[in-house]
Amino acid sequence: MPELPEAEVVRRGMARWAAGATAGELAVLDPRSVRRSPGGAGALRERLAGAELAEPARRGKFLWLPLAGGEDAVVVHLGMSGQVRVDDPGAPDQRHLRLRLPVRSADGSAHELRFVDQRIFGGWWLDPVVQDPASGDAVPASAAHIALDPLHPLFDADEVHRRLVRRRSTLKRALLDQTLVSGIGNIYADEALWAARLHPERPTERMTRPQTRAVLAAVQDVMRRALAVGGTSFDALYVNVDGRSGYFARSLEAYGRTGQACRRCAAEGREGVIVREPFMNRASHLCPRCQPRPRRSTRTVTG
Ligand SMILES: [Zn+2]
Repeated sequence: MPELPEAEVVRRGMARWAAGATAGELAVLDPRSVRRSPGGAGALRERLAGAELAEPARRGKFLWLPLAGGEDAVVVHLGMSGQVRVDDPGAPDQRHLRLRLPVRSADGSAHELRFVDQRIFGGWWLDPVVQDPASGDAVPASAAHIALDPLHPLFDADEVHRRLVRRRSTLKRALLDQTLVSGIGNIYADEALWAARLHPERPTERMTRPQTRAVLAAVQDVMRRALAVGGTSFDALYVNVDGRSGYFARSLEAYGRTGQACRRCAAEGREGVIVREPFMNRASHLCPRCQPRPRRSTRTVTG
């Protein structure tokens, strides 16, 4: 599932051809991919035909194409397996091609923005744009509840800490909560927890400010490094708009390394092995030597 770095790679790839472009007639090859758009395929096609597109925008893993005028936007929800491809007109259809939007770019060249989605959890929909009071950003209404992501200029780790300790949750679960901090999914959560030497099940109310700062700094670091190499194409579903994979999978330290040696332990002369533990209906990957399981709470219950 794409997380922030993968969504940002797609955003940048779209921006080159979409920003300032004029949209043509949207071809809906599978109506399930526009089922969340008010008025369905017809209303979306009508709104897009001849519309000028502004620079694609993103918050967390949530992407959208703002329409000139600023009142509405087309949300591009990647879901589990959605891909955006930019192709020349008439290029052969991809397998699982669902939507095709011709665009005439500001330089006069013609391209197609294509939405390819194997499992159809993603889709495009038209959404009114609202102003987020906290940041002043213009965001689609369906993204208004999403917290700032760790790469946003106004991201405030201490504010996240204040909200985190009130959550009565566990650390990894909180990191995946898009209303606390956005853009983090299973891969980058496991990588950041490994880097900060924190166990996923650590109770949020026992997190110290330095620990929260450390894990959020680790999230920022791992996301920036992933972005620099095009993101993580772990399951072959995620690619950039040219269809190429990202290279960060080879730099992962915990995620997907079950049974392999922990590289930090090896460097420090210890024998640590990455294990896989059940987490909700997925899994966490961690080194039990670097990330010891927290002791049970010693809080005394009175009354
Ligand atoms: Zn280790």
